[in-house]
Amino acid sequence: SRSRCSVIIVGAGVSGISAAKVLAEKGVDDVMILEASDRIGGRIRKEGFGGVSVELGAGWIAGVGGKESNPVWELARQSGLRTCFSDYSNARYNIYDPRFVYMSACLWALGVLCYLLTRCGGIGFSGKIFPSGEAADSYRKAVESAIRKLRAEEDNHGGDVARLSEPLSVPKTPIELAIDFILHDFEMAEVEPISTYVDFGEREFLVADERGYESLLHKMAETFLLTSDGEILDSRLKLNKVVRELQQSRNGVTVTTEDGCIYEANYVILSASIGVLQSDLISFRPPLPRWKTEAIETCDVMVYTKIFLKFPYKFWACGPDKEFFIYAHERRGYYTFWQHMENAYPGSNILVVTLTNGESKRVEAQSDQETLKEAMEVLRNMFGPEIPNATDILVPRWFNNRFQRGSYSNYPIYANHQMVHDIKAPVGRIFFTGEHTSERFNGYVHGGYLAGIDTSNALLEDMRREKERKLESQTFL
Ligand code: FAD
Repeated sequence: SRSRCSVIIVGAGVSGISAAKVLAEKGVDDVMILEASDRIGGRIRKEGFGGVSVELGAGWIAGVGGKESNPVWELARQSGLRTCFSDYSNARYNIYDPRFVYMSACLWALGVLCYLLTRCGGIGFSGKIFPSGEAADSYRKAVESAIRKLRAEEDNHGGDVARLSEPLSVPKTPIELAIDFILHDFEMAEVEPISTYVDFGEREFLVADERGYESLLHKMAETFLLTSDGEILDSRLKLNKVVRELQQSRNGVTVTTEDGCIYEANYVILSASIGVLQSDLISFRPPLPRWKTEAIETCDVMVYTKIFLKFPYKFWACGPDKEFFIYAHERRGYYTFWQHMENAYPGSNILVVTLTNGESKRVEAQSDQETLKEAMEVLRNMFGPEIPNATDILVPRWFNNRFQRGSYSNYPIYANHQMVHDIKAPVGRIFFTGEHTSERFNGYVHGGYLAGIDTSNALLEDMRREKERKLESQTFL
């Protein structure tokens, strides 16, 4: 069966939904949204775990409190989304270095004492090795010198593409490796300054709402799609429709889905991630031009994995500056970055550990039981052999998800304006959107949101010009 509409939007993540909303507001409502999965939200996704709602994808609203207002923060405020202020700059001072732990008999003894007190329910503080006293001073010094060293190396090489072939002196000690990991893989300090923080402010808020981050998307969708009791009933949104081919001619685009359906439209807005564009999920007829495929290939894809672990009780410290802690290991990125969820959901007894890139891919390929074993070994190195086993584990697999193929785009340091322009530029009647097309905010929810608006405005402009041309040729005839 064939039906024709003005615009087909491929993908119902934040960029697809914001693109559709703009079109609806401008009176273009014969739109169809084809989404491969069985839900809207894409990389914004909650799941019930350990009695609460956890965010498998985007978790923070980044960039708040600055001179301009972050539009996603505005949406969150309007819908009363529950959030908690997050400050992970403290993380670097909460470092567990197992070698150090075992060398330090005093800390060990203190740890056992604290552990016993905690198990007896005596005090809130637990865990034995957040360094204190003299140990804390030497830690701070070690951490600060590692940061200075890494920053100095970056400054020496900063922005100088020609010199990138010179090897950077590599971080060596477990602390240096851990700091290098959080500065680069976690805080995403790859290109300074980061527009998100410059434009919208330095603060970050963790979403801690049972309705999930994705409720913002539902709220947006409700403004232009038919809904009832929070369910989207509008037939213009089609779920479980995996687009496999886009064939364009001078007059329109024919879209073929995996289940053999064919749809026709004057235009397509394609919001699939950069990882999906790099894969062979969608084929283009005629093939995309070289400048386009080259730009797509040049963009890096980050894999970022939050692993959730549920425990029968807490054995970690919970003070305001202890939300994040770091495990220093001789392998870079090996279960380095930890967060407890007590600020978000008090009493939930959940820990989250973040892995990236190679470590994410390694863990995605193994069983959750193997991952649980590794994580428990790391926790026992930090907190001692007595801690309880996790009772549940949740391991998202963003890289192996064929509708994602990674977590978010990361422009390489040598990326230039032309590359970003080419990633975003339309090819005939196919317009591109998604976080990867946002020059200033790629990799973020607000990047996706603003990209959707941008792409729809560009498309509306194109539609207006096409209409003008038609009118002119009619007048001429
Ligand atoms: P998507 O959400 O990927 O939407 C694209 C949609 O297209 C998907 O629903 C997909 O199923 C669909 N699709 C793909 N292929 C096809 C096809 N062939 N046919 C039909 N449909 C298709 N951002 C922040 O701001 N703060 C954070 O804390 C944060 N943390 C993150 C943590 C993780 C683990 C991840 C994965 C991302 C994180 N992000 C964060 C990034 C943020 O989630 C993304 O930038 C944003 O959600 C991307 O939205 P999008 O619309 O561009 O893409």
